[in-house]
Amino acid sequence: MRRQRNAKIVATLGPASRDRETIEALFRAGADVFRLNFSHGSHEDHRARFELIREIERELGRPIGILMDLQGPKLRIGTFAAGPIRLEPGQPFLLDLRREVAGDSTRVALPHPEIFAALTEGTDLLLDDGRIRLRVERFDALHAQTRVITGGSLSERKGVNVPGVTLPISALTEKDRRDLDFGLELGVDWIALSFVQRPEDIEEIKAIVQGRAGIVAKLEKPAAIGQLDAIVEATDAVMVARGDLGVEMPAEYVPSIQKRIVRSSRRLGRPVIVATQMLESMISAPVPTRAEASDVATAIYDGADAVMLSAESAAGQYPVEAVRMMDRIIAQTESDPYYREVIDAAHTPPQADIAGAIGEAVCAIAGRLKAAAVVTYTSSGYSALRVARERPEAPIIGMTPRADTSHRLTLVWGIHPVITPDVASVTEMTNFASWTASEEGFARAGQTVVIAAGMPFGAPGHTNLLRVAQVGGEASTGA
Ligand code: PGA
Ligand code: MN
Repeated sequence: MRRQRNAKIVATLGPASRDRETIEALFRAGADVFRLNFSHGSHEDHRARFELIREIERELGRPIGILMDLQGPKLRIGTFAAGPIRLEPGQPFLLDLRREVAGDSTRVALPHPEIFAALTEGTDLLLDDGRIRLRVERFDALHAQTRVITGGSLSERKGVNVPGVTLPISALTEKDRRDLDFGLELGVDWIALSFVQRPEDIEEIKAIVQGRAGIVAKLEKPAAIGQLDAIVEATDAVMVARGDLGVEMPAEYVPSIQKRIVRSSRRLGRPVIVATQMLESMISAPVPTRAEASDVATAIYDGADAVMLSAESAAGQYPVEAVRMMDRIIAQTESDPYYREVIDAAHTPPQADIAGAIGEAVCAIAGRLKAAAVVTYTSSGYSALRVARERPEAPIIGMTPRADTSHRLTLVWGIHPVITPDVASVTEMTNFASWTASEEGFARAGQTVVIAAGMPFGAPGHTNLLRVAQVGGEASTGA
């Protein structure tokens, strides 16, 4: 089962995608990675979906990625004594640190000391996905007196965003730590960390995860954009989390920041996912708007590794249609002759080290020889990532003896992961590479494959071998 495209699809699972038939249909329609969103659902819900995915994987014989998404420090107001209130522009409104304060139209609890510690006069607080805006006029240790700038109706426990302020708060809450333990025990492949603000947030979670899963930094705070490259360097992959990003800053900033994040990730060789509202109208309609189709295509032209569906596949009426539509938009965009031009134009030279040089050379050779495939033989996935960074024209077969690596590579641009046995020699590896390319339907007898690997085999992090082979009829030979 081979996808006819380079960019990958991440599909969020939820109430609309809980049974085996739907999940399998989503996979067949094109979902490469499934997102388990730990902002919703019980551990038992997530465990059940996890097991269904692994069952489908076993039966269909193709690696499937599983991404757990941690809720992170989503800040919330307290409750109201008598139901929702209405805030009028210009009226004063008091925020009170004490949790037990019963809210009314003059005040509400905001039980987050970190916010109070970071307030200054003139700070704006956004409530309910940015629908309501409050401006701080005075504050002390327990209270913040604000003025309503944009009013509206407000109900209890709505989210609070503090744009432009770096809060002295870890990206990992107590709930996240419990969820994380659970996810690691299940064996998820990727873990997404929400509201990352600084590189230290990545280091903190990496110290716990210890390489058992890859880390996806969700970029949804303006503070993170201020040290973008340092965060991208620190993490294994990146998500352009446009939902919260578009609350924390005005919508007109989101497109250029999206492009900045994708550029930085491509330059530093980290897989990048573009997420949220990509086919939003398909939550309740079987076809997307033209603007949405164009939005998916833009991410593809920019060279993103993956595009993501949220509510479309988790809670919408047309989850399978949304994946199918995304699959078609990606394939169509990548078949545009102009696609190759823009991908190459945005390409930057790799890091000047051995793996970078090999990655670059493999792609140049594959291009010159019109190779049928590039094959990477990789234990940690390192060689495959270094080659994928170069965005070759030929498809990449990511051979690996490790199931966890094959799972992780499902997220990466252009890579078709395949699990293979351990190999003992370069000849054996070369033969396996040619055989796999032909077996998986990428190459016919006589066609060329270009291979990148690291020696000694099994030692992660070395890419130092480049080999060109001709696919044989019966037995294949190295060149
Ligand atoms: P969420 O993250 O769906 O977990 O909020 C993505 C986003 O904010 O865009
Ligand atoms: Mn978010």
